[in-house]
Order: sequence, then structure tokens, then C-alpha cells
Amino acid sequence: MITGGSRGIGKATAIAFAKEGASVAINYRSNRAAAIQTLTALEGGNHIEVPADIGDPQAVKEMVYQVVQHYQKIDILVNNAGIFEYHPIDKVDYTTWQKNWQRTLNINLVAAANLTYCAAQYMIEQGGGKVINVSSRGAFRGEPLQPAYGASKAGMNAMGQSLAQALAKYNISVCTVAPGFVETDMATEVLEGPEGDHIRNQSPFGRVAQPEEVAAGILFFASEETTFMSGAVLDINGASYLRT
Ligand code: NAP
Repeated sequence: MITGGSRGIGKATAIAFAKEGASVAINYRSNRAAAIQTLTALEGGNHIEVPADIGDPQAVKEMVYQVVQHYQKIDILVNNAGIFEYHPIDKVDYTTWQKNWQRTLNINLVAAANLTYCAAQYMIEQGGGKVINVSSRGAFRGEPLQPAYGASKAGMNAMGQSLAQALAKYNISVCTVAPGFVETDMATEVLEGPEGDHIRNQSPFGRVAQPEEVAAGILFFASEETTFMSGAVLDINGASYLRT
């Protein structure tokens, strides 16, 4: 099951998983046309769409139930859906600031926690599973114009590590990928704006990632062989930000 599986990184991940023979449940919020287009691009399998606003805890619970009803199990949850909102501290009013923080933390962090909770109940029963979170370089490097986004992704990294420890005894691994900028709808405005060249040149490759390059990292964590990497946070940023 891939949240935000209809576009961008989620779409590339759905395509990569289907190519490996997985049946994929694609979540999205409202753009059904994009979801249908993605479903038709998937090889083989028994793929389904499961629209829901992941910001709504009840909708999350019902959606995970629906997926398990359909497949009789849930092997892999990819917490990919996210939002990236502009709210610089010196430009927005206090009300806008609060709304941005609440919305961003709710979708990028709390929703991923709720999805993991609901999926883990079934994974525990079935004897194992994998949770893969899509975080961001911004968790480490800072996001001066989208501070709630950076904080939400740092929270996601910490959540993944805590849950990796909590769920290991149930044979459930929790891993995280942390991409730098990726060429998707989310980044279009920034990449096409005056900062575009500067951002591309943050990487010595002189470009940003393609969604397929992030999907490759997610697929890597989905394999049986990487279970013991639970707790890891994998940078996918073209050496644009190096940490030890
Ligand atoms: P994107 O192209 O904007 O696609 C976002 C996807 O998430 C869509 O499928 C969208 O569905 C879904 N979504 C958004 N809000 C949702 C909600 N409340 N409930 C359910 N689905 C929701 O995004 P992307 O660039 O692929 O980003 C995917 C992940 O990678 C995010 O977590 C993002 O933070 C992370 N990331 C992206 C970049 C980048 O530069 N693009 C860099 C680092 C990390 P609808 O189409 O129906 O709205």
C-alpha cells in the first residue's frame, strides 16, 4: 500500500513494485484521474485504488481495513504522501503560521503514525511486514521557507527509529528514505523559479533526482534481504548534503 501513490514518487514506486510482481493499493486524496492513469500504467497484478484523506484518522483506519479485506494481508506500507507549504516566519501572519504548522504536521507526521499503527495491527497478526517512510533532506539541512515541513520530516525520521525498535519483535522493519529535491509536481514551482539552477547545482551532478531514483531506494528497503537495516535513514540526494 502506497500513500500518495497516484503521482510523483508514489507513482514511480507503484510502477517499480508492480514490475517486481507486487499487487499495489494506491492511495490518493482527490485527483482520481491521476490515480487511474497510474493504475493503468502498472504491470500485471491485482491493483486497487483506495482514495482517502490521510489527515483523517477514521478514514485511515477504514482504508487500511479495506486493503486487508481485499488482499487478506498487508505486506508493505509506504508512507509517501506529503505536503510542502510555503510559510516563512517573516512573511506570514500568526493565523496562517498556525494553520501551516497544524496541516503540515498532521499530514506529514501524524498521518504516517496513524497509518503505521493501523497497518501494524495486521502485520503483527500475520507475522511480519515492512514500513517504509518517505522523509526529506530538509530534516537535516533545514527548510527556512517551509519550517513545518523540515520539522515534520525530522519527526518522521525519529518516529521511524522508535517504531523500528518497537516492532522488531514482530518481524516488522521500519526504514526511511530521505530524498533531496525530486522532479515532481511538488517541486515544479521551486525548480522552475529563480532558485531552480541554484538547487540543481547543490548536487555535484548538477541536477535533482528523478522519482524513479527514489523508488529504487524504497524498493531496496522492501526486499527480504534488507530487514536487518530496520531503523536506517537512507539519503538519496546526489551528494548535495552529506552527513556522518
Ligand atoms: P506530489 O507529486 O505532490 O504528489 C503528492 C501525492 O500525495 C499525490 O498522490 C497526492 O494525492 C497525495 N496526497 C497529498 N495529500 C494527501 C492527503 N491528505 N491524503 C492522501 N493523499 C495525499 O509529491 P512528491 O513530490 O511525489 O512527494 C512524495 C513524498 O516525497 C512527500 O512525502 C514529500 O515530502 C517527499 N519528498 C519530495 C521531494 C520533492 O522534491 N518532490 C523531496 C523530498 C521529499 P492527490 O493528487 O489526490 O492530491
